[in-house]
This record gives sequence, structure tokens and C-alpha cells, in this order.
Amino acid sequence: AQGKRAGKEICIYAEDEHFNVAQRLTLATDLQQAIRNNQLELYHQPQINLHNNTVEGSEVLLRWQHPTLGFIPPDQFIRIAEDTGVINELSLWVIETTFKQLKELLSHGFQQHKVSINISGKDITMRGFLTKVTNLIANHDIPSHLVNLELTESVMVSDFNLLSELMKAFSNMGVNVSVDDYGTGYSSLAYISQLPFNELKIDKSFILDLVESPRNLTIVKNTIDMAKHLNLTVVAEGVESNLVEQKLRDFNCDIVQGYHYSKPLPFNDYLTWLDNYQKHVINQVY
Ligand code: C2E
Ligand code: MG
Ligand code: MG
Ligand code: MG
Repeated sequence: AQGKRAGKEICIYAEDEHFNVAQRLTLATDLQQAIRNNQLELYHQPQINLHNNTVEGSEVLLRWQHPTLGFIPPDQFIRIAEDTGVINELSLWVIETTFKQLKELLSHGFQQHKVSINISGKDITMRGFLTKVTNLIANHDIPSHLVNLELTESVMVSDFNLLSELMKAFSNMGVNVSVDDYGTGYSSLAYISQLPFNELKIDKSFILDLVESPRNLTIVKNTIDMAKHLNLTVVAEGVESNLVEQKLRDFNCDIVQGYHYSKPLPFNDYLTWLDNYQKHVINQVY
């Protein structure tokens, strides 16, 4: 499994460089078209609360089936969107579409279901981002405490003051913010704890092989301990087995996400998954 994983990584990097400047510009235009022509889709991956085994909510993950090139992984087209400035329009589309789906989740009876949305560092520096998100929350009548924004570590090294102001504003509105992919960048918990984050997501590279790696066990255990002392909710992404879940329970991790529970699913399939999960939990209890 190790070799397969390493091979996949290499392939991703090779494909990244596969797009030259001209192709990247074409893809950026295609992406704008895709936003307008509804060729993008939001998938949902459940997040499970380990303290009560209920579904805490879902992470929203963007999917793009390009008309001629086929499926392009989000890692690749997000970077192109960031480099060409398409990202702001894309992020606002993701946020608004997520809000519409959240309303559907609420009307299906999942009253406490949260949605976690990935946003880019380029959104933070966009003029009017806060106002636009605030208006979307108001217009769609969204309970703001059900909204979580995920920011990758790399954002943290940008403008501290700007980030700090924006986060305070979100925090005052009741919107939660998490640090995504924690451990892959250079920011320390000392630095992160100066900003009003609610949640820390430990990167899957530490979680995938957790049980076999004494090194990752140490890192993850101590990260969880520190994060919890700093009053951060801890999420582990990339949980693929029951053994890993057990370890994370031992370490008092709060929330888990990974293929062990479900791959990211199209919205309608996710609704079906939620119904089945609920039945399953109820059967376990009684
Ligand atoms: P991320 O935010 O760290 O998302 C988690 C990634 O891990 C997702 O990849 C998910 O499919 C994958 N994953 C979840 N559980 C497992 C598991 O058990 N094993 C393994 N091997 N992988 C797992 P995905 O969907 O390909 O997305 C990749 C990245 O693209 C995301 O990483 C995020 O940085 C970015 N991305 C995706 N959607 C959006 C979006 O709407 N906006 C922005 N700005 N970025 C996005
Ligand atoms: Mg994320
Ligand atoms: Mg992540
Ligand atoms: Mg990641």
C-alpha cells in the first residue's frame, strides 16, 4: 500500500507540470464557463463525532468533469484558479451552493448538520469577501454556527493582521474556522493559537499509516493534547480503518473523517448515506 501511495503522489506532481502556461489559461477560461454552465458538483464527505458517534456534518469537496479532458482533481484546478484569479468567483459559487444544500439538509431533519467549506488564501485577501459571505448567510437564512470555513496552513504566513481581522469578524458572526492540513506547513500551534480558530484538522499524511508509524503516533498524540489544551476541536482526516479510529479514540480526538466511513459522495447519495447511518446508529443503541 505504501508503494502505491507513493506512486500516486508522483503521478499527481507529474500531471501538475503537464499543463503548460497556455493550457492553464485555457483551463481557467473553461473553469469560468463551468461555473456558469453548472458543470461543477459539490461532493460531501461525512465527519463523525467520536464522543457520541453521530454525524457532526460534512466537508464539501469540489468536483469538475471537464468536457474533453475528463475528471481533473481539485488540487490541480484550484491552483490554476488561484493563479489566474478565477478562485474568488469559484469560492463564492461553492459557498452559495453549499448554503442551498445545507437548507435541504435542514429541511430533511438534520437540524444540527454542519458544513465545512474549503476557502483559499486568495479569498482572504479579496476585497469585499466578508461582506459577500455575510450577505449570502443572510439571504439564505443560514444558521451561522453550522458554517465552518477551512483554511490551509499556508494562508497563515500571509498577512497576519488582515487574517486576524477577518477571523474576528467571522467569529463574532458565529462562523467557525479551522486550520486544514495541519502539520504539512511551517506554522506552529503557538502561532495558530494567536488567531481565533475553533478547530484543527490534522493532515491525512499523519493519519493514513498511523498504526504502523511510531513517529506519527507520537506526533498525532501530542498534537491532539496540545490542541485540546488550547481549546481547539480536533479533526483527523484520512481515517481508513477501525484500528486507526481506535487509536484516535485513545488519544481523545473529537472528530474523524475518511474512507472508513465514506468517500466524498454526490449530494443525493450523501442524503441516502445519512439516512442509512442514522438507522444503523439507532439499531446499535436499541
Ligand atoms: P482537503 O481540504 O484536505 O480535503 C481532504 C482530501 O482528502 C479530499 O481530497 C478527500 O477526498 C481526501 N480524503 C478524505 N478521506 C480520505 C481517506 O480516508 N484517504 C485518502 N487517501 N484521502 C481521503 P480531494 O477531494 O481530492 O480534494 C483535494 C484538495 O483540493 C482538498 O484537500 C482541498 O485543499 C482542495 N479542494 C477541494 N474542494 C475545494 C473547494 O471547494 N475549494 C477550495 N479552495 N479547495 C478545494
Ligand atoms: Mg479541507
Ligand atoms: Mg485537509
Ligand atoms: Mg489536504
